[in-house]
Amino acid sequence: MTTAPHHDVLIIGGGNAGISLAARLRRDGCRDVAVVEPEQTHHYRPLLSYVAGGMATLDDLRRPEASVIPPGCAWYADHVTAVEPERFMVRLAGGGEITYGDLVVCPGSQVDWDAVPGSREAVATPDASTSYLPHLAEKTWAMLSSLREGTVVLAVSDRHVPCAPVALKPLLMAADHWRQEGTLDRIAIELLVEGDRLVDHDRGDRELRAAAAGYGIRVRTGTAVESVDPLARELRVRTPADPDLVRYDALLLAPPHRAPGWVSASGLSGPQADGFVAVDPHTLAHLTHPRVWGLGDAAAVDALPSGGALRKQVPVVAHNIAARRTGGPMRRYDGYSIAPVTTSRRDLLLAELDRDGRPEPTVPFPDLARPRRNTFLFDRFLEPHVYWRWLLTGHVS
Ligand SMILES: Cc1cc2nc3c(=O)[nH]c(=O)nc-3n(C[C@H](O)[C@H](O)[C@H](O)COP(=O)(O)OP(=O)(O)OC[C@H]3O[C@@H](n4cnc5c(N)ncnc54)[C@H](O)[C@@H]3O)c2cc1C
Repeated sequence: MTTAPHHDVLIIGGGNAGISLAARLRRDGCRDVAVVEPEQTHHYRPLLSYVAGGMATLDDLRRPEASVIPPGCAWYADHVTAVEPERFMVRLAGGGEITYGDLVVCPGSQVDWDAVPGSREAVATPDASTSYLPHLAEKTWAMLSSLREGTVVLAVSDRHVPCAPVALKPLLMAADHWRQEGTLDRIAIELLVEGDRLVDHDRGDRELRAAAAGYGIRVRTGTAVESVDPLARELRVRTPADPDLVRYDALLLAPPHRAPGWVSASGLSGPQADGFVAVDPHTLAHLTHPRVWGLGDAAAVDALPSGGALRKQVPVVAHNIAARRTGGPMRRYDGYSIAPVTTSRRDLLLAELDRDGRPEPTVPFPDLARPRRNTFLFDRFLEPHVYWRWLLTGHVS
C-alpha cells in the first residue's frame, strides 16, 4: 500500500489566485507548497475582453502553465474531485489522494449555462457569443465587427460573474468601431443589466451611463434573461415591470457563474454561500474547518470577484496561514475590488471600490474613475506585464 503524498500547503487551482499565493508563500520561506491544476495553459483573463473587442489576440494572454509554477513548488496536473476536510485530504480525478497541513481552495468559477435555458445552444450559433470563455472571445469580435445593421443586445447577469462590469468592454469598443465605420446609426443597442447599476460605484456608474448614452445605447437595469430562443433570436426577460421579449441580431452574454459542484458536495459551502467556499469574508478562513482557506472567484467574500481583489486577498491568506500556526493576529480583507471598463477604443475608467460600493482609490489624484487615455494604455498594454512579472511571482503586499 502506498501512502498519499503530503504537502505543508496544498492549493487547488493554478489560476491567478493559486499561482500568486504559491509564489508569495515560497517568497515568505514556506518550503513545501503544491498546486493542483489540470490545464496546461495559463490565461491572463482580463485580456479576453480586448480579444472580444478586436484589440488583442489569444496569443497575447496565454502562457504554458509550467512557466508560471513558482520554482520549488510541486504541480499535480489533475482535477480535484473531492475534499475530505476531516481527514485533511483531497481526491484527484486520476485516482490519487494528497494530504495537507493547510488547504487553499481557489478553483475559480464556471459559466452556468443551465441557469438560462437556451443560452448554451445560442452561443453555438453565429449570432450569439460571450467574452467570458477563451474559445468564444475571438468569435465575439468576428460577430460584432461584421454587423452593419440590426439589434445588438448585451445581457449582464449579477450571479457571480467575474468582474461583471468589464462585460461592457467589448460592447463599448464595438460601438466606437461602428461609429468610426459610419454604421452606428443603423445599429440599435440594448444593454440589459440584472443588477441596479452598471458598476457599484457612484462616479463609475455615472460615467458608464454617459458613455452608453453617447452611443445611443438603451440601458435597462433590474432586467434578467430567463431564457433564450436561438431559432427565433429572442430573449425572454424579467424586468421590474412586466416580462418582456427582446429580439436580437447579435447577442452578447455575461452569463451566470457558479462554483464547481464538488465544493458543496465536500461540505465546504454553507447556507449563505450559494455553493461557493464558505469563508469569513475578512480573514478568508473557512467557517468550520480552520485549516481550509478560500481565495479568489470561488470564495464567498461578499465582494466583486476580480483579479484586482486578489492583490489584497493573497497577502491576507499568506499571512493568516502563518498566524493560525503561531497564534499571531490575523490580517483582514476589506472587500477591495476593481472594475476597469473601456468607454471607447481609447479611454478607460477604473472604479476601485470596497464591498459596500464605497470608493477606495489607490491614488488620491487623478480621479481614475473618469475615462482616460493613460488608464486605457495601462490596462491594455502595461498591466499584462505587471501580471506575469509581479503578481504571479508573489510581489503583492
Ligand atoms: C472575460 C474576463 C475579463 C476579466 N477582466 C478583468 C479585469 O479587467 N480586471 C480584473 O481585475 N479582473 C478581471 N477578471 C476577473 C479575473 O480574471 C478573475 O477574478 C481571476 O482570474 C480569479 O482568479 P482565480 O484564480 O480565483 O480563478 P481562475 O483564474 O478562474 O483560476 C482557477 C483555476 O482553477 C483551476 N481549476 C478549476 N477546477 C479545478 C479542479 N477541480 N481542480 C484543480 N484545479 C481546478 C482552473 O483550471 C483555473 O486555472 C476578468 C475575468 C474574465 C473571465
